[in-house]
Amino acid sequence: MAIVTLLAGKERPVIQRHPWIFSGAIKKGAASIEHGAVVDVHTNDGAWLARGTWSSDSQIRVRLFTWDTDEVLDEALLRRRIERAYEGRRLHPATSDTNAYRLVYAESDGLPGLIVDQYGDYLVVQFLTQGMEARAETIVKILADILQPRGIYERSDADIRNKEGLQPNEGVRWGDLPPELLTIQDHMLSFYLSLPEGQKTGFYLDQSINRRRVAAYCDGADVLDCFSYTGGLTLPAAQAGATHITAVDSSQTALEMLRANLELNQLTIPIDTTTGDVFKLLRQYREEGRQFDVVILDPPKFAHNQSQVERATRGYKDINLLAMQIVRRGGILVTFSCSGLISADLFQKIVFGASLDAQRDVQILERLTQAPDHPILLTFPEGAYLKGLICRVW
Ligand code: SAH
Repeated sequence: MAIVTLLAGKERPVIQRHPWIFSGAIKKGAASIEHGAVVDVHTNDGAWLARGTWSSDSQIRVRLFTWDTDEVLDEALLRRRIERAYEGRRLHPATSDTNAYRLVYAESDGLPGLIVDQYGDYLVVQFLTQGMEARAETIVKILADILQPRGIYERSDADIRNKEGLQPNEGVRWGDLPPELLTIQDHMLSFYLSLPEGQKTGFYLDQSINRRRVAAYCDGADVLDCFSYTGGLTLPAAQAGATHITAVDSSQTALEMLRANLELNQLTIPIDTTTGDVFKLLRQYREEGRQFDVVILDPPKFAHNQSQVERATRGYKDINLLAMQIVRRGGILVTFSCSGLISADLFQKIVFGASLDAQRDVQILERLTQAPDHPILLTFPEGAYLKGLICRVW
């Protein structure tokens, strides 16, 4: 097995079981290690530390999967880890009333580079590292065996694949091709989604618990749902008794699906769907003096790498400031950030800055995070990315 030796002083995170080794921590690793091959990681003094898979092209050169010398990356290990991930989901009460959830959340489930989402009878997989790519067939076989789905669909089109030097890959890996439109059940609502066309793997599963938390503020309210996508937050708001909803998204397809989703659930409240740029529309609403009881901001990831953090910060500040200016006194602002590089602390500071500029008193009523099917492993805090604040704006 190839050996990767760390520079002196770089072993601490490995000892603390952080699963990533960056290229800058490596003293020597043979230039010829095969993509995705298993490597043993040694200290500068030659002591064995951990075992991982090699990514030749990524700044994250090794993803560790075990700190036990006896454990090897074979089919049995993959099976044990997938079974454990599945058991964790089944044990959780939140999965009892939904048939769509994240089954495997990569590093957090001891399977760096592997995402598996369950949507009813179908599974969607993403192989995001060379290590997982090399084991894709075995993983598909294990998933088919344990979960007996109708089909397993690959959506390895995420940005991270580029960093790994991997081409995007999409299509049926096992069983049937999923129907063009799939219906899933999430709590008391049904949603259409398209596995090949939808964003992420099709749906924003990470918001599942938050849907109900946000809905609790929408009874009798005039709601503005910004970045609505297919209505993940619009529908719960409608069901909770909103009197009017304005849903805004840049994707017309998403908004068409949102309307279809309302119909699917026989929700007939008055709704405006507006295809456009939230940044511009919020300004327009402010100029027009439009006011809302509840404003929801659930933007896409603004910061994909460290160099984008400053710009992302300005973006978050901008929309939060505008949103505060159009919330009625005593109304509600629900604001999210799914950029992992923006910490919960920094996010709160941004919202604070916006409140000063808006000259409004803003109280945090609730703090939200990603759903429990996206668990955060204590040794891998980077797994936490979604944060939200429900605020009252005076
Ligand atoms: N709230 C949704 C998820 C939102 S994802 C849910 O719970 O399902 C972010 C959405 O923002 C995407 O649908 C994307 O199309 C949209 N988007 C991205 N940039 C935008 C912009 N500048 N203006 C409006 N919508 C935008």
